[in-house]
Amino acid sequence: MKIIFHGAAREVGKSCIEIQSEGKRYIMDAGIKFIHSGIEYPQFLDKIHELDGVFISHAHLDHSGALPMLEHKNLNCPIYLTALTWKITNLLLEDSYHLEKLKHIHPAYVERDIRKIKDDLRFVKFDQEYETHDGKIKFRFLNSGHIPGGASILMKVEGKNVLYTADINTENTNLMIPSLLGNLQEKIDILITENTYGDREHPDKKDSEEGLIKSINTCIAGGGSALVPVFGVGRSQEILLILSKLDKRIPIYLDGMAKKLTSLILETNDPYVDNKELLAQMFNRVKMVDGFNKRKEIAKKKGVVIVTTSGMVQGGPVVEYTSHFINEENNFIILTGYQAKGTNGRSLFEDHLFYSHHQRFQVKCHVRKFDFSAHYGQDSIHILVEKLNPEYLILQHGDIEALEAVKLYFDRKGRKNVLIPQIGEEMKF
Ligand SMILES: [Zn+2]
Repeated sequence: MKIIFHGAAREVGKSCIEIQSEGKRYIMDAGIKFIHSGIEYPQFLDKIHELDGVFISHAHLDHSGALPMLEHKNLNCPIYLTALTWKITNLLLEDSYHLEKLKHIHPAYVERDIRKIKDDLRFVKFDQEYETHDGKIKFRFLNSGHIPGGASILMKVEGKNVLYTADINTENTNLMIPSLLGNLQEKIDILITENTYGDREHPDKKDSEEGLIKSINTCIAGGGSALVPVFGVGRSQEILLILSKLDKRIPIYLDGMAKKLTSLILETNDPYVDNKELLAQMFNRVKMVDGFNKRKEIAKKKGVVIVTTSGMVQGGPVVEYTSHFINEENNFIILTGYQAKGTNGRSLFEDHLFYSHHQRFQVKCHVRKFDFSAHYGQDSIHILVEKLNPEYLILQHGDIEALEAVKLYFDRKGRKNVLIPQIGEEMKF
């Protein structure tokens, strides 16, 4: 068998791992990468003419965003994924297609390609064994604890067990039941895992939750309002669950993709989404916001909380709210996750500056940031690898510093066969 990384090798973005076996070609994930000049696709897509199967771990576009490209190239092959992953992916693909059009970025495919994906879908349930249509590979989707619908994938290829954790969380959150991959009984021959946080630990989850609630209370006691930018999938639902601890008299507004995504997650029966009843209660408690005028009205209110996409203040309704919020000294903007370089979220937090319509604005309001990551941290990576004790450990989906930190840890422990592949590198097993 050969394993080739077409993306997420020494980087985060465009996850796409090819497995070649007995003349057949399969890929795990078909992601894209957002870069300044637009979008990057896994390179091999230009050259490939036939594909025998696609496995999608979860809906984030860095794992699923290249699916329309496969259709555009007429690579009609089965796509294995959970039903919820498809529902979320479909929503994200349609949204990003329209956004690209709005920004005058020419998408590499047409809208019809998104609709064509449906014909190739093969829905998979968690924890059940399946076989690819050609009978070559047996596989199981296991809860990854990362986002609703998300899975780690265990495959049997040429008698070897290959486990792809994909994005994974083994730690507790309010929204997701954590991954229990460490309890797998199978002997793992090849473990492929993400290392987003390979060189650092998360702050204590309880501290982050208390920090968020405390900041909102301080803000409201001081006569301001709190704007909470969130990533739509997972994070917005996690934040809603935490906000259930707020005094019920404080009005909470929900806006952007977070509305549709929360209702999708509530209406789908996913066994690993936790606290669904509380989420449903919160969804009923919040007030939905729609339209430019309504937003303007809400942004001027005092004593309220607004939860809206996007998480890095780069697009979506949060940009409109922010342009009002920054002028009021007693307002708070509370960021809820990682803020990449060059994003508004990063410059709000680090420089107290906000960029909009090619102009720069000074930020007068307070800016706070709390970490609610959906990826496992350094210690949990070490623990999982030690529990599974694979023959080969392949480190991917991380910056080079994070990947090398994990490799160094295992080198010191005397572990053999710890690999950090390059893009396009062929690994034989
Ligand atoms: Zn992800």
